[in-house]
Amino acid sequence: AIQEEEDKPEDLQPRAPIVTVMGHVDHGKTSLLDYIRKENVIAGESGGITQHIGAYGVTLENGQKITFLDTPGHEAFTAMRARGAQVTDMAIIVIAADDDVMPQTKEAISHAQAAGVPIVFAINKVDKPTANPDKIKEALAGMNLLVEDWGGKIQSHDISAKTGVGVKELLEKVLLEAEILELQANPDKHAQGTVVEAFLDKGRGYVSTILVQAGTLKIGDYVLAGKNSGKVKAMHDERGNAIEHAGPSTPISILGLDGAPQAGDKFHVFEDEKEAKQIASKRTQLQREQSVRTQRH
Ligand code: GDP
Repeated sequence: AIQEEEDKPEDLQPRAPIVTVMGHVDHGKTSLLDYIRKENVIAGESGGITQHIGAYGVTLENGQKITFLDTPGHEAFTAMRARGAQVTDMAIIVIAADDDVMPQTKEAISHAQAAGVPIVFAINKVDKPTANPDKIKEALAGMNLLVEDWGGKIQSHDISAKTGVGVKELLEKVLLEAEILELQANPDKHAQGTVVEAFLDKGRGYVSTILVQAGTLKIGDYVLAGKNSGKVKAMHDERGNAIEHAGPSTPISILGLDGAPQAGDKFHVFEDEKEAKQIASKRTQLQREQSVRTQRH
C-alpha cells in the first residue's frame, strides 16, 4: 500500500473548492459551465479558457478561486466515487425554473447527500417567461430541502445560464459555503490527487488530466496513476499555458505517462522510479488474474 504522509496543522494552507455541476438533462448544466468558462478572465490576462481538459479553474473579481469539474452530470461523479475517489467538495445542482424537480434532479441530490457534499441550488432559466422559481423552491421544501429564502440553510440562487443573470452571485454563494468547509491542503510535499480524464493523442502521446489535491506536482516528477506511470514531461493548464508546477486544487493536463489511466484513479509521486513501476506492473497483473477468474465463472 502507498503510505500517506501525515500533515502538521501548520503545513496546511487554504485551497480552492472543487465543484461538480449536476442536474436533470436539459436543465442547463453545460450552459452554466460554458458561461462561467467564457466569462472568466483573470486580471491582466486576456482571453478565456481555450482547452477542454475536463476541469478548469476560475478566479473571481475578489481574487478567490473555484475549480470546476467540466463534465456535467452525475455519471462522472458516480464513476469517480465508485473508484473510491472523493474529489468534489460541493455540488451545484441546476434546476430549470420552467420545469419541475425531475428524477435526475432527485438522483443528483441523493448522490451529493451520500457523498456528504454540500449542495448549492442554481434555479436556472429565469429569463424565460414561463419560469417559476418559487414553484421549484416549494417542491424542494416538500422534500425537506429548505433553501435560504424559504427559511432554510441550503444556498440557492436564481440564474440564467443564457444571459448570465445571477451567475456571479451564485459563485459567491459557492465560496461562502466553501468557507464553512475550511478546505486546506499541504502544498509542500509530493503531489497526490485524482485522474479526471485521459486519452491518446496522435501527436503528443498519452494526455492525462489530473487534479492535484495535495502537494505540488513538478516537471520531472515520477508519477504512478492507476496502472500507469511515467515522468512528467510537460504540464499545461486549461488556457494552454505550459506550466512548471501545480499546487492543491489545480487541474492540469500532463504528458509522460505510459498509458491512459481511468477517471477516478488516484495518482502519487514517487521518489523511486523502480518502486512506482513495480506497483504499476503488480496492478496490471492483479487485473489480468481477476479478468481470467471472471471469464472462468
Ligand atoms: P444540460 O443537458 O443540463 O447540460 O443542458 P444544456 O446546458 O445543454 O441546456 C439545454 C437547453 O436549454 C439548451 O438549448 C440551452 O440553450 C437552454 N438553456 C440553458 N440554460 C438556459 C437559460 O438560462 N435560459 C434559457 N432561455 N435557455 C437555457
